[in-house]
Amino acid sequence: MYVYLCFDVEDLVHPDSDDISRDIAHMLADDGVVASMYVVGEKARLWERRGRWDVIAAVAQHDVGLHTDHHSVHPTVSEYLADKGWDDGLAAALCQEGPGVADLARLFGQYPSAWATSGSSWAPQIPAATRRLGIPANVYAHVRADHHGVCWYAGQLCYGDYIGIRGGEGTCCDDAAFEAALPDLLARVAEAAGRGQTCLGLFCAHPTRLRYTAFWDALNFFRGENTPESEYRFAPRRSDEEYATGLRNLRRMIAAVQALPDVTIITTRRLNALFAAEDGPVAWSALAGLAEAVRGSEGIAAGYLVASLEWVSAATALDLLARALVRLAAGAPPAYLLARPVLGPADLAPELPKSFLMSRRAFVALCDDLAQEIGATGQLPTAVMLDKVPLGPGPLLRACAAAFLDWERTHDGALVEIAPAPGEPNIAAELAQTGIYDKLPHWPPHRPDLRLDLLAYHTRLQSWSLRPARLR
Ligand SMILES: [Zn+2]
Repeated sequence: MYVYLCFDVEDLVHPDSDDISRDIAHMLADDGVVASMYVVGEKARLWERRGRWDVIAAVAQHDVGLHTDHHSVHPTVSEYLADKGWDDGLAAALCQEGPGVADLARLFGQYPSAWATSGSSWAPQIPAATRRLGIPANVYAHVRADHHGVCWYAGQLCYGDYIGIRGGEGTCCDDAAFEAALPDLLARVAEAAGRGQTCLGLFCAHPTRLRYTAFWDALNFFRGENTPESEYRFAPRRSDEEYATGLRNLRRMIAAVQALPDVTIITTRRLNALFAAEDGPVAWSALAGLAEAVRGSEGIAAGYLVASLEWVSAATALDLLARALVRLAAGAPPAYLLARPVLGPADLAPELPKSFLMSRRAFVALCDDLAQEIGATGQLPTAVMLDKVPLGPGPLLRACAAAFLDWERTHDGALVEIAPAPGEPNIAAELAQTGIYDKLPHWPPHRPDLRLDLLAYHTRLQSWSLRPARLR
């Protein structure tokens, strides 16, 4: 199992928190350990303004990711996306997170290897936007496809699973507490490796919390408050001795995890490169299996489908089968089709009131339009129009699967039935529950009236793009 070492470098309030990241970075580098340091864009700019080139150089020895552009300063990520649709949300995320990407690349001489969620401030537009910004992964993602710790969602590689020592930094700063907690941490890492998980984040520390006993943002950015810099409240500070204990136990914790059998320590950057890309060839001979999986499932199966040995999302399945029908109609089908990454739709299509039949020739023309639209936008359309009747991706996917099987297997099917079908994959509601409703209200900085319905709506729609990620 690959284990990546996570540090959230985020304190925008205490100036002397800068030294902590430097101390950790040097300590780990001395041990030959390369960690993943997720740095807030504004934190990096503070270092630059304060002339802390020693800190920047120390951290640059490690893998650097973006821990959002401004973390808990309002509006946070969920807050600025809460009232957005898909396209305007994507534009807002590009605008808000883009400067952090550019500043990290400029200051650390490396492009961010990941975008790491701050607290629970997440939205489904983030994976798509960060991919467009050239960031290859999301860490602490709110979505899961299975139990391997990583999936594709909204066009982005999303790492979901991470664990840390119970009691966090407070435990590290206390020898007795650390001794008591370490065996439990090692047992949980070993258990994840034992059940065949591909990768796991080891949450090592918020560097600031090795020095301060409270979170900088809970004191100053609680429940929607933006405290001006001149009125910052400061947290109680640990003694130098406690701080030294914290560093020493952090080092011991990483060494102990590294020594576990079946654990390989890796950076997020290197891990990203081990996963097969979302697009890849799918053998024509596997398409019948894909169509069978669509036809044989209740509703829209768990968000992804098996085609031969590959996983494809429900959105990519629709794209593949629509294009396969177009190729069949043109004669001489190819040996392979290229699976394309396809985002979920921007909106939910109206329900189809009842079934109807249409000629196969007209259906193929509809599939051609659909495939061309997907090719142009990289996204499922909300619906394609047929004589003023909007047909959403649910009915289209089921119709494509049935038409493909009829044509390939029985050379039958002059008519294609379009029947009502769910507008979203079966996993959609669960993703919205665990990814939005269970998490967002519990982060202390989030404003108490944070709106969740649109975030949940787009989380559901993007479940069309969900699938497990597979090592190359
Ligand atoms: Zn954070």
